[in-house]
Amino acid sequence: MLLTLTTTHRPATDLGYLLHKHPERVFSFTLPVGRAQVFYPEANEERCTAALLVELDPVALSRGKAGQGSGAPLEPYVNDRPYAASSYLTAAVREAFGTAMSGRSKERQALADQALPFEVHLPALPSRGGPDLALRLFGPLGYQVDGRVWPLDPNFPEWGDSLYLDLKLSGCVPLKVLLAQLTLLIPVLDDAKHYFVTDEEIERLQRLGAGWLENHPERDLILKRSLKHQRDLLRLANAAFGQEEPIAVAAPLSLNAQRLAAVEAELATSGAIRVLDLGCGEGHLLRPLLANPQFREIVGMDVSPRELERARRYLRLDELPPVVRDRLKLIQGSLTYRDARLRGYDAAALVEVIEHLDEARLWTLERVVFGDARPGTVVVTTPNAEYNARYSFLGEGEARHQDHRFEWDRPTFRTWAERVGEAYGYSVIFKPVGEEDPELGSPTQMAVFTRQGP
Ligand code: SAH
Repeated sequence: MLLTLTTTHRPATDLGYLLHKHPERVFSFTLPVGRAQVFYPEANEERCTAALLVELDPVALSRGKAGQGSGAPLEPYVNDRPYAASSYLTAAVREAFGTAMSGRSKERQALADQALPFEVHLPALPSRGGPDLALRLFGPLGYQVDGRVWPLDPNFPEWGDSLYLDLKLSGCVPLKVLLAQLTLLIPVLDDAKHYFVTDEEIERLQRLGAGWLENHPERDLILKRSLKHQRDLLRLANAAFGQEEPIAVAAPLSLNAQRLAAVEAELATSGAIRVLDLGCGEGHLLRPLLANPQFREIVGMDVSPRELERARRYLRLDELPPVVRDRLKLIQGSLTYRDARLRGYDAAALVEVIEHLDEARLWTLERVVFGDARPGTVVVTTPNAEYNARYSFLGEGEARHQDHRFEWDRPTFRTWAERVGEAYGYSVIFKPVGEEDPELGSPTQMAVFTRQGP
């Protein structure tokens, strides 16, 4: 991964003094998971460019990572980390340019304090949440933003865009501020950090964000992503930044509880005794189902073995008395392949699952659940995209979770559910879940399908 910094302030080679790196030399240093080099591809009176090149060692990177991520066996080795600008790059920036970040310069202090013309180039910057996110983050800070989206594969334009930008920024800022903004905002675009985030991160946000983050129009998003979506830290950060209205951080928790209660109630009133939780994840619905003796046979199914392992832990299966434990089976399988183990149940729940499948592949799930497994009742929940406008931490058009392939408005969900009902012989009714907004509807939408005939 690569970052270049160019200045046209004359004499441009003074950049060497500011970065504490002589333009005629190459600097190498080792990082916990790779190595980095700083060198100057051009250095003259008019223009001087410093390049930071980071080479990650995929094996060092994968250490202790097996079983994390999406669960794909090669994911620890085959991923975008070696080339995508991320917190690995910003950690290298801190390592390489620590003195410059503190704003000190032995030989050119006045220059270090001064706003200088800079150009920044990041050839591969992930932009989760749409290509315009870089503009929304850097634009309000006074940069000219030129972001070109890389195609997934230049040989196959029909495959569409990747989520990576070739980004160029230009602006006039003190070097210290430029480096602070890059180190805080690159991981925000990536929506990830490779290190454990604690309340020290709030102190960093205050220190590096001083003078520009407090009133940034995307501050909520920046805080939320910087703190890796951790509610407790967000609450502290809101307090630290003197937020007047609390960011809607409490909502997802209570919404989750309301959703589980609503689904459990539908399953219970359907009279079901043998139930399926399809895409059960770590078992949030399985817990109340186990606690309700009406459900005598419960199956939790998920495609991800890692989620099933988590469910075992979350439900403390090992500690449950055998009479309770024996009512539950956890099975691994994909909802896109017909599966005889799913036939003959009274009811099935798909809680926040359909949006994790590609829309173009959703028909396979429809066929498996409604065509082949054919439970008497099917309860499906999914986010209502209209309601996202109420979440101040989401950018426009941004999904609630980075793994969501789509989020539907109410008419789209309704049309989908009615078509599926029609095709497979189910009647369908719709119910809101969560606090309803008069215009936008409820945060979660729910469809309850009832099989007509055998
Ligand atoms: N129902 C759970 C989890 C929702 S997250 C809850 O409400 O907490 C979506 C889940 O669907 C994930 O656990 C994911 O592993 C699972 N999933 C995604 N695609 C799947 C597929 N094709 N077959 C089965 N499960 C799938």
